[in-house]
Amino acid sequence: LHTRLKPAHTGSELEELTDTINLMLDRLEDAFRKIIQFTSDVSHELRTPLAALKAGIEVMLAKQRTPEEYCELLENNLIEHEKIINMINDLLVLLKTDAAKQEFYDVDLKKMLCELYTAFQVITETKKIDCTISKMENITIDGDQKLLYRLFSNLLDNAIKYTSPGGNICISLKDLENEVIVSIRDSGIGISENDHNKIFDRFFRVDASRSRDTGGVGLGLSICKNIADLHKGKIEVKSTIGKGSAFLVTLPKSHFNR
Ligand code: ADP
Repeated sequence: LHTRLKPAHTGSELEELTDTINLMLDRLEDAFRKIIQFTSDVSHELRTPLAALKAGIEVMLAKQRTPEEYCELLENNLIEHEKIINMINDLLVLLKTDAAKQEFYDVDLKKMLCELYTAFQVITETKKIDCTISKMENITIDGDQKLLYRLFSNLLDNAIKYTSPGGNICISLKDLENEVIVSIRDSGIGISENDHNKIFDRFFRVDASRSRDTGGVGLGLSICKNIADLHKGKIEVKSTIGKGSAFLVTLPKSHFNR
């Protein structure tokens, strides 16, 4: 790459063709750059849990230990192992949304959000978070059922992860003329304004050490953004440090005439 064509004569059809080819070369170059960046990010992120796994095995092999010590070391290994599996699963979802063709069917959003609320009820109750779902109309939109569920469950999962016991979360659905807005609000730790755009980047974590405790690798929100994009929608964040965050997902109701 880096090669660009120069037309022999200006103002000709050949010049237009050259411009088009150069534009395509630019896009190809951009795509290659992104692939290289992505591969290098993935390798870097996988190296940390793999190194922890290796270190754990080396410690076990170094000398004879008590059964309790072996148990503790094996449990730590299992946690690192789970992180790798979670990351690979997230990467597969990212690839799927990157390459997905639009095959949309009717999605009953009210039903989906109620199911989501119920699925997370045990976790919110255990963590003593007051999670509510606002009164909502029946709304059906064109979409991919599994991917939309993934989008909202990532957002709810984050809201729970970043909200302390005693806090609250609210799920709501707003019906506008041609689109809907799903919002998931929490009274958690909040995100500084500087980071509002960055949190949707792959592998970005506001505080890497804190996120490591919560088991995240920084892929959840980039998956959400990909899924919203695939539905020709958008995802926005409103958040204040120490007060909480609201993630708003706007989705068109229909994809016909688009
Ligand atoms: P992770 O797996 O680390 O949670 P995400 O892509 O889902 O990755 O989120 C990126 C970062 O955005 C998180 O590491 C966290 O710092 C921040 N974040 C996401 N959701 C929230 C939230 N509801 N409240 C506060 N911070 C959040």
